Formats: sequence, C-alpha cells, structure tokens
Amino acid sequence: MRHVYATSWGVSTRLIGALIMMHSDDNGLVLPPRLAPTKVVVVPIWKEDAEMAAMKQKAADLTRDWKGRITFKIDDRDQYRPGYKFNEWEKRGVPIRIEMGPKDVAQNQVIVVRRDTGEKMAVPQEGLLAAVESLLERMQKDLYARALRNRDANTFTCDEYKALIERLESPGGFFWVHWCGQAACEEKFQQDAKATIRLQPIEGGQAPGACIVCGAPSAQRVLVAKSY
Ligand SMILES: [Zn+2]
Repeated sequence: MRHVYATSWGVSTRLIGALIMMHSDDNGLVLPPRLAPTKVVVVPIWKEDAEMAAMKQKAADLTRDWKGRITFKIDDRDQYRPGYKFNEWEKRGVPIRIEMGPKDVAQNQVIVVRRDTGEKMAVPQEGLLAAVESLLERMQKDLYARALRNRDANTFTCDEYKALIERLESPGGFFWVHWCGQAACEEKFQQDAKATIRLQPIEGGQAPGACIVCGAPSAQRVLVAKSY
C-alpha cells in the first residue's frame, strides 16, 4: 500500500485567528496589505465649518483617478472628529491612512500613516498613488519578515525529554525532536504537556537520531508544539 500525499488548502477560522494574532497590536487589527479589503482611508480635516466643503472636495479631487486601481474610502463624515476616525480605521486594520488638512493642501502634500508601525510621513500630492502602492508593497514585505523572525525566534531543537516538557510550558514554542513513529510516544508528550506533532517535513531535517521518548531509531525530526 502507498499513502497518498494531499495538500490541505482549508482556510478556516483557525487560519484567520492565526493571521489576527500574528500581526495585530493593542490598537486593533493589522492586516497584510494584500489581504486588506480596503487598502487606504483618506481623512480630510477641517477646523471651521467654512473649510468643510472645500476639504471634502479636495479629498475627492485627490482620489479622482484611483477608482479601479486601489480600494479606498474617504471618511468625510462631519459628525465625528478626526481622532475618532483615526481610531476607528486603526481598529479595523486599514493599512494606510491619509490625513489632509488645510495646511497640507497649501503645501501640496498629505500626511501618510502606516498602520503597522504608526510611522507618519509627509508625501507630495503629485505621484501620491504610486507612493502609496510602493508603501503597501513594503509593508507586505515588512510584515512577512517580522512574522518569520518571530517564528524563527520561537523554534528550537530539543533532544532531552524532561527539558522538552519544561520548555513546552515555558517559554513555549515549536520544538524539533526525534520521534520513532510510534503512537505511544506521541501520546506520552500529549499527556505530559498537551503537545502534539504539528508537522512532519517531507523535505529537510532528515538526519537520523533517537526518539526523544523511547530512544528507538528515528529517521527524522518532527515539529512538536502545544495545542490550544
Ligand atoms: Zn519512541
């Protein structure tokens, strides 16, 4: 008998949960730009009521040729103050916020704010869409790199059973261990630390060793972590 290799593309609530937990912060959701349904929110700012109509118009002019090229929203609701709007879009994880007040208009610029780092920068209105698109690409790469660093920083190799059980508890993480292939050995660390085998790589890590539980020969390491 030969087993079939099948890939699971299941996009379930777990994947969405992992996405939220990996990237988000205390201010709410942070989404990788490619997954964000709305990439940009433009918030025109005015102090006097007299400035309101002009600023709303400026926001519409600024984004006139954006339709079909990028998904965006203009938040020109007049019943909320700018701080309230900033907070609301931050919570929802819109990757880029563009703030534009009368002073910015006078200088032909806008203020661009990154959701992931909070970094603010003045950007000329001329060529704004291209600048925003390239910033979204950079944010996508930065978020991926940060997630990868986090994963690597929490992945360890372990060859001693007692240490494995302790380290699964604290600091926790992913552990490459040798396993003989017997269900009884997996059940042991499942009972001792609520940990299971999360991954058995098809390629890589094939160096043989001794099962971390029973010492029997093991062809390769598997990745063990606590399941929650
Ligand atoms: Zn074993």
